[in-house]
Amino acid sequence: MFHYLKKLSQWWLPHTCILCGNLTHSLQDLCSACKLDLPILTQSCQRCANVLTTNINGLICGQCIHQPPPFDYTHSLFLYQPPVTHLIRQLKFSQKLLHARLLGELLAEKICSEWYQNKSLPTVIIPIPLHPKRLQTRGFNQALEIARPIAKQLKLPIITRGFSRIKPTLAQATLPSTERRKNIRQAFAINYKVENQAIAVIDDIVTTGNTIREFCSLLKKNGAARIDVWCCARPNPK
Ligand SMILES: [Zn+2]
Ligand SMILES: [Zn+2]
Repeated sequence: MFHYLKKLSQWWLPHTCILCGNLTHSLQDLCSACKLDLPILTQSCQRCANVLTTNINGLICGQCIHQPPPFDYTHSLFLYQPPVTHLIRQLKFSQKLLHARLLGELLAEKICSEWYQNKSLPTVIIPIPLHPKRLQTRGFNQALEIARPIAKQLKLPIITRGFSRIKPTLAQATLPSTERRKNIRQAFAINYKVENQAIAVIDDIVTTGNTIREFCSLLKKNGAARIDVWCCARPNPK
């Protein structure tokens, strides 16, 4: 009964904007003015989403040409700057799960309207797994929560069983860049048949890319045919 009432109220009651508190006049928790102000990432490497200074589409950065990453495409929705930093931090550290729903909905919009005009969609979604200890402290995996609205809209399955984070790594952000790679090495395990699959891997932010590289190289070693990374934000290069 409670579930039914909750569903009904979501449809019935007006939504308020997560950022400014105004009514949104839509089914999203974001008003059109705040949506227009968001720092959309428009110029980036198609392989790793490194921010580029040119606006020519389909470019690959020098780093990816020199050392191709173990994934085929990266699509980042935003630059990691305010208010996106606020949305993601509050999601992760203040359990604002509504933010995950909104970020997932915004990603789904881009996936449907822009990113896949010239290529086929992946067939399964895999959120980057969290270590059980981190999952216990946080109570949820933010990548999985962001994946839910996307999976719903695209009608794709989310696969979580069979992928685990087996090494309790330190938070990558707390480490100098030289240590980050070492920290994440052999952090994941797979017990799922990914052979010949076209996979979308989801994470909230891709910073140095070490975590996503480590996870995707394991997927590729296990036979994944194609990997597209979908993330909410990518920081500006320093
Ligand atoms: Zn607003
Ligand atoms: Zn690149």
